Amino acid sequence: MKLKSILLTSVLWITAYSATQAQQTQVIAHRGFWKTTGSAQNSIAALEKADSIHCYGSEFDVWLTNDNQLVVNHDDTFKGVTIQDATANVCTAVRLDNGELLPTLRQYLEKGKQTNTRLILELKPHRTPEQETRAIQSIVQMIKDFGLEGRVEYITFSRHATKEFIRLAPQGTPVYYLNGDLPPQELKDWGCAGADYHFKVFRQHPEWIDECHRLGMKVNAWTVNKAEDMQWLIDHKVDFITTNEPVLLQQLLKKN
Ligand code: MG
Repeated sequence: MKLKSILLTSVLWITAYSATQAQQTQVIAHRGFWKTTGSAQNSIAALEKADSIHCYGSEFDVWLTNDNQLVVNHDDTFKGVTIQDATANVCTAVRLDNGELLPTLRQYLEKGKQTNTRLILELKPHRTPEQETRAIQSIVQMIKDFGLEGRVEYITFSRHATKEFIRLAPQGTPVYYLNGDLPPQELKDWGCAGADYHFKVFRQHPEWIDECHRLGMKVNAWTVNKAEDMQWLIDHKVDFITTNEPVLLQQLLKKN
């Protein structure tokens, strides 16, 4: 009888512990961990630094150049170069604020291959759907060539690109739509892995968090840089928070 009760207690404890673990919010570094010495947004250093502090994921932005090469940067026009209108040679001659040259996606993934953090790849909306489809075909092929299919998640504001990632990436690859204007059921019908919205969308629709979970989907909120906003999202059990302040979020999670 006593043994039975000990066993039961252990099972309950393990179940409770697993539930706590499953609920723990995870940290995604927005454009890598860039607010630190020697780093810059969307630099290879920012990816390495996000990995070095054990972020769940490191987010970065991807564009297609006018000669159909993939490069990593946030802005459509960066330091005078409009990426969609420039060749890869011109784009990759631009220096980031930490002195690195603007990386190609290939260079970025070469470093990514040596890290453990998940690669949260955002395709920026391009001028035409054809450009986005071409970009996604190359991205999916490159991820396959690197053997990184199990470590990548795709995100985008473009409805066309969302549908194309779902169509072209291997089944089960997480794809998230960022624009905040679709309710959870619609995201589910599209085949999205969840809702990846600005945190203010969840403050307006806190019921969407539970709804996603009921539908078997995940919730990520971006870009959350203040402790009070982080705490609200942790209390509401979002799965991921994307932030420019990954260390602050990690410290907060330790206290929860
Ligand atoms: Mg981004």
